[in-house]
Amino acid sequence: MSEETMKIPQATAKRLPLYYRFIKNLHASGKQRVSSAELSEAVKVDSATIRRDFSYFGALGKKGYGYNVNYLLSFFSKTLDQDEITKVALIGVGNLGTAFLNYNFLKNNSTKIAMAFEVDPSKIGTNIGDVPVYDMKELEQRLNEEEISAVILTVPVNAAQQITDRLKDTEVKGILNFTPARLSVPPSVRVHHIDLAVELQSLIYFLKNYPNPDTESSQE
Ligand code: ATP
Repeated sequence: MSEETMKIPQATAKRLPLYYRFIKNLHASGKQRVSSAELSEAVKVDSATIRRDFSYFGALGKKGYGYNVNYLLSFFSKTLDQDEITKVALIGVGNLGTAFLNYNFLKNNSTKIAMAFEVDPSKIGTNIGDVPVYDMKELEQRLNEEEISAVILTVPVNAAQQITDRLKDTEVKGILNFTPARLSVPPSVRVHHIDLAVELQSLIYFLKNYPNPDTESSQE
């Protein structure tokens, strides 16, 4: 991200790709302006939050006019589009890992899974969705050769910490953790934890206990 976004709060920064995708669609359909209410409806973030988020990057909506779509588009593309493709690695080519390799973020042309790692001999040496699957023994060497800075972890929970510990000998600074393990990492490494089972359970809890999302904040 550029220096401009360094100052904005992390919660706002996380919403930027969501806004960007919607603004790109608006621009493609020829719209010149958009209100915070329309944005709110489309991205499911309340309009007060949208106004506050947008004020951080100097987009001030005018009453009765809304926001200028071209201005927003150029801000988001300057902030989020990377000149180079960021290569990431995936560790653990099971059901979820295989799905990621086949998907490979093709619609998002700034990131790409460049390599995968496994312990299962029947998977090592294959290509899945054009991504080579290497032996875990080669982990540090391969990550360093390609200067990989982020990994996606889709291994069984009991393997997660031990693999994370091996990353200290690499340049990896970010882990997208799909295992339920709470990882211990040095302060220089950032972990984003996505526990699909917990997210689903939490959604179902909310459906049961807060059946009407209009009266509660439906967006976390
Ligand atoms: P599958 O049906 O292929 O087992 P899964 O997603 O249910 O898929 P998991 O047990 O979660 O399977 O394991 C995910 C993948 O991680 C498997 O392909 C497994 O071989 C691999 N794996 C297990 N231990 C390690 C490890 N220490 N390092 C790298 N990969 C590992």
